Amino acid sequence: MAEVLLIDQTAVQRFLTMPACIEAMDGVFRRIAAQRVLMPLRTVIPLPEGRGAFAAMPAVLQDPDGIGIKVITVYPSNHGTQYDSHQGAVLLFEASHGSLIAMMDASSITAIRTAAASAVATRLLARQNARTLAILGSGVQAVTHLEAMLAVRRIESVKLWSRNREHATTFAEREGKRHGVRIDVTRTATEAVRGSDIVCTVTSARAPVLAGESLEPGMHINAVGASTRTTRELDGPAVVRCRIYADRQESLVNEAGDFLIAQLEGFVTEANVVGEIGEVVTGRVPGRLDDSEITLFKSLGLAAEDVASAQLIYDEAKDDPSIPRFSLGGMRPEH
Ligand code: NDP
Repeated sequence: MAEVLLIDQTAVQRFLTMPACIEAMDGVFRRIAAQRVLMPLRTVIPLPEGRGAFAAMPAVLQDPDGIGIKVITVYPSNHGTQYDSHQGAVLLFEASHGSLIAMMDASSITAIRTAAASAVATRLLARQNARTLAILGSGVQAVTHLEAMLAVRRIESVKLWSRNREHATTFAEREGKRHGVRIDVTRTATEAVRGSDIVCTVTSARAPVLAGESLEPGMHINAVGASTRTTRELDGPAVVRCRIYADRQESLVNEAGDFLIAQLEGFVTEANVVGEIGEVVTGRVPGRLDDSEITLFKSLGLAAEDVASAQLIYDEAKDDPSIPRFSLGGMRPEH
């Protein structure tokens, strides 16, 4: 019987370290640029009564081969409760016979891989001497983005804004201690952003939290929180001031409210999009041209990121006897 590894949140966090995941995401973007990824747009079913969404994100990777899918619910109202706002599983299949080989916690993979993808973009696009970081939001993605930004730039100070001040203060105390970095909580998003070299927007806001007038020359922005065509964190005047890079162009023009709403309002066209981050990694399109430009990485989150993370975790976990495994079938007894 084909064995299926059952990899829970603790095990994902043990095997998917931020530095390893950053390199894996670099590899994913390279493979997308080389067209070695088969990946339709994700399927999203909005749930009745505005409870959230149910989504399926499949991808097939080539060289090394991997087949997988992430199946998740997104319940924004879970924030501040014992439940993660993103819950589900990543299923990984091996490519020679198509057998299911692992089922993994999707909450922790999503948390880590999203921040690692932002780290790849930041490593390429932020000024080399970027030292100050602003984070808008204080949830799961804020936690992993702090770790990811610290991994790619020598950050000396952090400013944090979140809608709920108590959440912001709790985050600042806990994460400041964990990383040995000072985190100042600000009263407004603008206060956090002004004077920062790198800005990460990681909120579930549906309307802009980052205004064009707050941006300053030389910034790099990772816009992560809005991943549907009807929601956004940046207003039109912010988007038009930026050189825009996508995780994937097809996702950007179908799923990114940050871009699509600004386009509807007449602030930008597709000509404002410089390219995909994989094209920058491979040198096909230029990154930042000078220290005064404002660069924007629009992250939608890709199934290929989940599958590559799952492959990395599987390779680490498969020989570990502490990882539980079970059999589902899928092989004929007579063979
Ligand atoms: P959490 O539920 O853990 O945190 C949500 C955060 O959003 C909190 O800090 C909350 O602030 C803030 N927030 C909620 N509503 C508003 C609002 N109306 N205005 C301003 N802030 C608000 O979520 P995650 O950290 O897991 O995810 C954050 C966002 O990132 C989500 O929208 C999620 O869908 C998206 N995401 C994107 C991914 C990608 O690949 N691009 C991958 C995973 C998530 P407070 O507590 O102060 O109210």
